[in-house]
Amino acid sequence: MHEKGLLIVLSGPSGVGKGTVRKEIFSQPDTKFEYSISMTTRSPREGEVNGVDYFFKTREEFEQLIEQGKLLEYAEFVGNYYGTPVDYVRETLNKGRDVFLEIEVQGARQVREKFPDGLFIFLMPPSLTELKNRIVTRGTETEDIINNRLNVAKEEIEMMHLYDYVVENDQIDLACERINAIVVAEHCRRERV
Ligand code: 5GP
Repeated sequence: MHEKGLLIVLSGPSGVGKGTVRKEIFSQPDTKFEYSISMTTRSPREGEVNGVDYFFKTREEFEQLIEQGKLLEYAEFVGNYYGTPVDYVRETLNKGRDVFLEIEVQGARQVREKFPDGLFIFLMPPSLTELKNRIVTRGTETEDIINNRLNVAKEEIEMMHLYDYVVENDQIDLACERINAIVVAEHCRRERV
């Protein structure tokens, strides 16, 4: 099946600001992506609206969706399920619209398997960038510091190679600009082929 729209996956380590960047992108009036609203079993936070922020489900309902194959991917994160509705994604892509997912790393990995041609963007915290630079260029820090930081960074850096692009979230507006530029560039590249 040939999907005309581009599947854009924004992911990255916990606490990097994926949600903030996503909200900023969708607050821009000229954004052309369709946001895929996720399903979750977590309770709504104050101000969150069912069908806008998430589709809030019970655990039982969520497990039924899994069994029925209704989720493109799902993951358990801090005791709650989160998942992407597969029908919405496929239908929207088939209409030629770009779909934007903002999901954690386990889910992004599953999407990569099903949509190898998706556009995978890893949002990177600036401190990890600094750390990476240190590891690469120096390697002369005290052992303790290196070990502590490496432990945290390792898993995330291991995940990074699964992505097409790494965007540093040093400033929200800059991160959004970079993401938008990547999408434009990817369209140009793909349309050329
Ligand atoms: P929160 O509870 O703060 O809204 O989200 C917690 C984490 O779940 C965030 O890292 C967010 O990106 C991720 N998340 C939101 N929706 C989905 C989804 O559909 N699938 C997966 N795998 N992660 C999601």
